[in-house]
Amino acid sequence: MIILVDMDNTIADFEGRFLEIWQERYPHIPAVPREARRHFYQTRDYPPEHAKKVTSVIAHPDFFCQLPPIAGAVDALHRMVELGHDVFLCTSSYFNYPQCVSCKYRWVHEHLGQGWQRRVIITADKTVVRGDFLVDDRPELKGKFTPTWEYILYDQPYNREARQWRRLTWANWEDVLLGGA
Ligand SMILES: [Mg+2]
Repeated sequence: MIILVDMDNTIADFEGRFLEIWQERYPHIPAVPREARRHFYQTRDYPPEHAKKVTSVIAHPDFFCQLPPIAGAVDALHRMVELGHDVFLCTSSYFNYPQCVSCKYRWVHEHLGQGWQRRVIITADKTVVRGDFLVDDRPELKGKFTPTWEYILYDQPYNREARQWRRLTWANWEDVLLGGA
């Protein structure tokens, strides 16, 4: 099977790093805790007067290089390959932050290994990529084409209203993707 896996907040803990930087930089402004997040974009969960602060955290040149892996994600990806699946990391980039693309490649090398850089697909439209599954945290699916893949949500607090797709975490992915659960 061809399994496409998103990066930010699916295998790389964008949220965790964001909170860490926010607390360092703005200790006097309470961060929105992980479980209280309701929108895909952080800016929509913060009052408008903090929008620029939110984007400035993400715009830090090393932001995307320093995301911790989400627990279980690295093992899950290696396991998929061991089981003979074709795995690709199918991610969008923040194209207005030029360092984002190079950070994503560095991240993949550092956490998954050299050969994994060849599995990276960076696209603004994931429906142009073929596969059996796309695992992603984004609670909406947009693109020019009807996808060939089944969309599987990576469970996050802000996507729990989206009930039209199956969902997984790195604790139960084998049952969801391979067990027909
Ligand atoms: Mg994502």
